[in-house]
Amino acid sequence: MERDTEIFSLIEQEHQRQLRGMELIASENFVSDQVMAAMGSYLTNKYAEGYPGKRYYGGCQIVDQVETLAIERIKKVFDAEYANVQPHSGAQANQAVLLAVLKPGDTFMGLDLDQGGHLSHGSSVNTSGILYHQVGYTLNRETGRVDYDEMERLALENKPKLIIGGGSAYSREWDYERMRKIADEVGAIFMVDMAHPAGLIAAGLLKNPVKYAHIVTTTTHKTLRGPRGGVILMGKDFDNPWGLTTKKGVVKPMSMLLNSAVFPGNQGGPLEHVIAAKAVAFGENLQPSWVDYATQVKKNAAVLAQDLIDRGYDIVSGGTDNHSMLLDLRPKYPELTGKVAENALVAADITVNKNKVPYDERSAFQTSGIRLGTAAMTTRGAKEDLMHLVASLIDEVLADPENEQVIKRVREKVNETMKDYPLFAY
Ligand code: PLP
Repeated sequence: MERDTEIFSLIEQEHQRQLRGMELIASENFVSDQVMAAMGSYLTNKYAEGYPGKRYYGGCQIVDQVETLAIERIKKVFDAEYANVQPHSGAQANQAVLLAVLKPGDTFMGLDLDQGGHLSHGSSVNTSGILYHQVGYTLNRETGRVDYDEMERLALENKPKLIIGGGSAYSREWDYERMRKIADEVGAIFMVDMAHPAGLIAAGLLKNPVKYAHIVTTTTHKTLRGPRGGVILMGKDFDNPWGLTTKKGVVKPMSMLLNSAVFPGNQGGPLEHVIAAKAVAFGENLQPSWVDYATQVKKNAAVLAQDLIDRGYDIVSGGTDNHSMLLDLRPKYPELTGKVAENALVAADITVNKNKVPYDERSAFQTSGIRLGTAAMTTRGAKEDLMHLVASLIDEVLADPENEQVIKRVREKVNETMKDYPLFAY
């Protein structure tokens, strides 16, 4: 068979794009060689429907050990008693939880998408909003932080069966204790989607939601720096005080309901090559150097946010407690949309994504904001000095986003600078 030069040339082009640019997309990262090697391994050849020790296919003796290691490692990372490492993605992990704990038409609560929530927390175009009834909570207009008083009022009014914490564009710590109290008050299950800050939580730099929530989900590819995928965790296995049943009407412990919701409820064969890569990443999360990495991610985000504030930009909520920040462009440049800002920065090899800001009057295709994060740049070895440069380059481009000369000058500076930073420095 002929070698596929077309695809492999595109892969190399993408590799070069990653090498020469500054990657500031808050949900992205660069994986280690070992994580990469596990993904491109012989495990991709194996079918393994079911769970370790209980498969629907023969020949699973090795992948059983791989999956068990992934489970044991992530339980250790987050001090959890239960883990399902099979969800193909974060959205599918969330979909599986909803399938396990809700019936079509049931009410649940999540942070609205245009306030920083995720699609899978009840957006009308996602199965979470199509199959179930979502009541969205919001951010306080003045503080830019989650409005827990409103959340409580909405919970008492709507009696949701599930309340979801966590978001995609929220730079502040969550009050999990308050959320658990609100959930207990109305008899709801409390779930946290920690996809964004999970890597910082793993390092002990932010509160661990596994201690407060009944169920926790995460992606594995953002700050956790693993392969693309999802995970479901529980601090302890609930013997199901809510009386939730299987699709056949039998009351079972939460662990069994969640496992059945992932497979066969939501997926077929698990991606054992990706699960192996997850195990490698969780092994990295457990090493002492992980704390150094996560600490630097947080420091870098704080420096970048402060530099941008000093240059007159508005950061939603006034700063960041994690790796991310949402830049509201309106106060400094009322005419500049997130779309134009993203395009100009990408042309200068600074990759960001446009994002709606809370109470944005522009559409999701235009937006008034951009979201930034420091997880990927920190993996490349970036420290505070590089963050000062990043802030000044962003400012230079946004001050004159249609000026080709400025974009060219900044791009050359970006490309020259990033020659000193390997893709993976830790
Ligand atoms: N949950 C949160 C909070 C996210 O930010 C994301 C993705 O950005 C997801 C879930 C979905 O993850 P995936 O893209 O793997 O489905």
